Amino acid sequence: MGEKKKKIVKTIKIDVDKCNGCRACEVACSAFHASPQYSSNNPARSRIRLVRDPLTDIYLPVYAGEHAKAECMGRGKYVIDGKEYSECDFCRSACPSRDIFKEPDSGLPLKCDMCEDNPPGEKPLCVQWCLAEALTYEEREEEVEEEVRAEDIEVGLESMIDKYGLQKIMDTVSRMSASKKG
Ligand code: SF4
Ligand code: SF4
Repeated sequence: MGEKKKKIVKTIKIDVDKCNGCRACEVACSAFHASPQYSSNNPARSRIRLVRDPLTDIYLPVYAGEHAKAECMGRGKYVIDGKEYSECDFCRSACPSRDIFKEPDSGLPLKCDMCEDNPPGEKPLCVQWCLAEALTYEEREEEVEEEVRAEDIEVGLESMIDKYGLQKIMDTVSRMSASKKG
């Protein structure tokens, strides 16, 4: 059974109508995550990327999320306020079908870390540098059920087997389950 735990949920609200395509968010993020920090500002290393098409007035900031091992089988299209977007425009994944959200040297997927509380209490860098106020940072506290992950159980069991031996663990489990049934 899980325990209740307090969790800070961090959100960045994106107001697409306010974005003017300046790309300051990409510069700030890539500089912050450069190694050494602030030594370069290659937008290809940014964890926020701007989908930009001035001809159709599309300026869409997108954050890097979990990477996808395979590309999608099909593609959707969205028409919002008369502007046509590809489904991929909204996608947060580094995926085999495109270069976005991949570290340019290693090809490893990039993921927004909300700047990892660095320094604590500061807003994420992209939010601080978005002078058009298209990005707004919000934090809220939530009570969540702490999940027991299957991998954690396996790691725990393995160390108990190492310590007591498999037979002893199995005898104990069967004794416990017999007493639960009764
Ligand atoms: S929150 Fe931080 S890590 Fe995420 S995109 Fe913005 S600057 Fe980059
Ligand atoms: S800094 Fe703000 S206005 Fe500039 S591209 Fe990024 S989200 Fe858009």
